[in-house]
Amino acid sequence: MVTAILPTYARAELAFERGEGARVYTVDGEEFLDFSAGIAVNSLGHAHPHLVAALNEQAGKLWHTSNAYRIPQQERLAERLREATFADTMFFTNSGTEAIECAVKMARRYHFSKGAPERFRLITFEGAFHGRTLAAIAAGGQAKYLEGFGPATQGFDQVPFGDLDAVRKAIGPETAGILIEPIQGEGGLRVAPPQLLRDLRALCDEHGLLLIFDEIQCGVARTGHLFAHEASGVTPDIMAIAKGIGGGFPIGACLATEEAGSGMVAGTHGSTFGGNPLACAVGNAVLDVVLEDGFLERVQNIGLRLRQGLAELQDAHPGAIAEIRGDGLMLGIRCNSVENRAVLAALRDERMLAVAAGDNVVRLLPPLVIDENDVADALARLDRAFTVAESALTGDAA
Ligand SMILES: *Cc1c(COP(=O)(O)O)cnc(C)c1O
Repeated sequence: MVTAILPTYARAELAFERGEGARVYTVDGEEFLDFSAGIAVNSLGHAHPHLVAALNEQAGKLWHTSNAYRIPQQERLAERLREATFADTMFFTNSGTEAIECAVKMARRYHFSKGAPERFRLITFEGAFHGRTLAAIAAGGQAKYLEGFGPATQGFDQVPFGDLDAVRKAIGPETAGILIEPIQGEGGLRVAPPQLLRDLRALCDEHGLLLIFDEIQCGVARTGHLFAHEASGVTPDIMAIAKGIGGGFPIGACLATEEAGSGMVAGTHGSTFGGNPLACAVGNAVLDVVLEDGFLERVQNIGLRLRQGLAELQDAHPGAIAEIRGDGLMLGIRCNSVENRAVLAALRDERMLAVAAGDNVVRLLPPLVIDENDVADALARLDRAFTVAESALTGDAA
């Protein structure tokens, strides 16, 4: 008989009961070091007092009203994000994939409203991940996510990651824009070089296209910048965010310039739950912390410490580790002789959580509030896990 929960996930045999900072505790009381943060979601760690207080305070007042009414918490969050980013306007969602869906609709609607409804296609990149709705799996272009779900949603042209010539060739009379993750998460922590983002910006300007960034994973201070693209000096026309902005509460948003959003007039889009008072109270609380003086610098510094430690780990395991990738606290260890899954299994025995990514990468996405001790602790566990994975390979007793 089927499980009560549709068996779409390959779940680990672990269930957690509570958490504090970068530590989570199973129902049996075992402590784990959490360097996955719910896949870059628990940006401030578990049970952050400021988030708990914000959620509790709002929970006692008002949870939900619908977007038929003004929502002061949503207006405040939008004003603050507008103040802190390139954006003039935004739409709130409950998830990343809905933020992407909104971005795709917005790009199409923009050209429609300019009298060019034929311009509906987006150029995307191999290895991309944009979510699991029908448009998002078409945008991501991965066969394993598309198979069996009928004809792929039209309008996505995929080119090799980072191949500017291929982008140039893919631009045609139906092209509406370019969609890219400044750092690929699921795809294996591949960083889009700043020059690539600048070149894409120039191409978009030259051809009247919209540049769309998916910062659902790499955004909200993850790289030590409020948004990862800021390091390149270019700004997008549209940007999807989610994950870290809610710190664990489901919320996403599609941010845009006034011009890019100009086709989205009254009645063109909607969401029952998107941006409700509860979600936005938590989103504002996350911003309170990440916008504090010194927070981003701290993420940069601790990210550098972790990266240095990973470079030493690579020196200690030259056969197993091919490369360290990523930025800030979004780092990947590309494995060579060992399988990333074997390392993750060994890490679990070390009571540490991390995430797999494409390209045989072990992905580290710790809460942004980790300290030096957490880094040292993680490096020691990683060292032991790589030793175990390597010895399993040669058949030595671990
Ligand atoms: C997680 C993720 C998504 C999808 O977000 P959901 O909240 O799972 O719908 C889209 N793009 C990127 C880059 C992601 O990491």
